[in-house]
Amino acid sequence: MKADYHSMKAPHLIIIGGGFAGLELIKQLRNKFIKVTVLDKNNFFNFQPLMYQVASGGLGPDAIAYPLRKIIAPMPNIAFRMAEVLRIETETQTVETNIGNFAYDYLCIATGAQTNFFGNAALEKYSMQLKSIPDALDLRSDILQEFEKALNESQGSQIERALNFVVVGGGPTGVETAGALAEMKKNVLPADYKEIDAQKMQVHLIEAAPRVLAAMSEISSAKAKQFLEKLGVHVQVNTAVQQYNPETGDLSLSNGQVIKTDTIIWSAGVKGKTIAGIPDTSVTKGNRYQVNEYNQIEGINNVFAIGDIAYMTTDKAYPNGHPMVATVAQQQGVLLGKNLLKLINNQPMKPFTYLNLGSMATVGRHKAVFEIFGVKMQGYIAWLGWMFLHLMLLVGFRNRIVVLLNWVWNYISYQRAIRIITRPFIPKQ
Ligand SMILES: Cc1cc2nc3c(=O)[nH]c(=O)nc-3n(C[C@H](O)[C@H](O)[C@H](O)COP(=O)(O)OP(=O)(O)OC[C@H]3O[C@@H](n4cnc5c(N)ncnc54)[C@H](O)[C@@H]3O)c2cc1C
Repeated sequence: MKADYHSMKAPHLIIIGGGFAGLELIKQLRNKFIKVTVLDKNNFFNFQPLMYQVASGGLGPDAIAYPLRKIIAPMPNIAFRMAEVLRIETETQTVETNIGNFAYDYLCIATGAQTNFFGNAALEKYSMQLKSIPDALDLRSDILQEFEKALNESQGSQIERALNFVVVGGGPTGVETAGALAEMKKNVLPADYKEIDAQKMQVHLIEAAPRVLAAMSEISSAKAKQFLEKLGVHVQVNTAVQQYNPETGDLSLSNGQVIKTDTIIWSAGVKGKTIAGIPDTSVTKGNRYQVNEYNQIEGINNVFAIGDIAYMTTDKAYPNGHPMVATVAQQQGVLLGKNLLKLINNQPMKPFTYLNLGSMATVGRHKAVFEIFGVKMQGYIAWLGWMFLHLMLLVGFRNRIVVLLNWVWNYISYQRAIRIITRPFIPKQ
């Protein structure tokens, strides 16, 4: 039977979230005997790993975002609705959204994660975060507005506040963001803001654990720290951020140090983005849904969770859950697609095991750490490998070309081409 969303009498799957996990699931179900509705509050897929480059003016948002409708348009059995899901009623098998209710036979929750401020309200209120494209654009505007502000300040302490940038969290996002800020200090500030003494700009990276990039090997961590310090970033490990006073701009650290700053960039943790209606008993560590080896939410057999929101402990190599990274999300999406078709055809499903392909992070121009299939590289070759893989992983040929051209331009010009303030000033005091 020809697959057609409107006429087909097939089981109906709703997927909440067209991110890394949802997208792979959609691809598996194309032209299959299952009717699929994808709900996402945004109409685009966001390639989050390059968001820090949008925040630092190296790329425009259109280079990393891709319209979900364009992906789904050639898939006759799949439809997209731009909708924010507010609640799930598992008894009536209904999803409630801001545009109305949708009934499902099967449901897949792929809502990803949100920033975790670990209950610190002041830091939540006054920090910038990097979890969405609007966040990245806010941060880009904010960084440039701080430069503008520094020009107009006469008091030393106010200039210090404007030009001190504190990145909290030494995971890949924190390391890459701190590296990008240090590159701005080196190349953008002296060129565009000649009246400012560029040496007054300070970039701090604060990490509570004993090393940055804790998920990578010790050698990669040490190299990343060395690369950052060479770029002039002040890296502090074994140090936690404690309090922020917006009046004075004082950011207190656990070692007693106080940094005066207007800009705290929080990349110290994420937690799952759950939806009301799924029982609290299914929510576990990291605010994620406890799932079994088939990504079924415990106790609700027709509701699945994949990607960052899923917490699975059955995979022998990952008894404390999988890392919240894109490759886990993608692999779970692929397997769930296959498993759903098996479930519909009364065949046994296959349990999920994660194939860890490795990880990487870049630290400014020419430098990266790269671990893939057990091979560890650092420096220039790793940087080339990082760029090649990110280009390949981007969705859409146009986006690849746009990113490549921007990178070539940035490389030749030593500039971040998109130094544009597009957002209104966000008062942080
Ligand atoms: C700045 C940054 C850098 C990163 N860098 C890397 C990296 O280098 N390598 C790596 O492997 N991983 C990286 N990650 C992690 C990676 O992006 C995530 O692991 C991955 O996105 C998880 O995929 P997902 O499908 O679970 O969620 P997402 O990709 O976040 O997708 C979730 C989707 O759900 C939608 N949604 C959420 N709530 C609702 C709702 N209530 N209603 C409707 N729609 C909703 C969202 O709009 C979104 O489209 C990075 C993350 C960030 C934030």
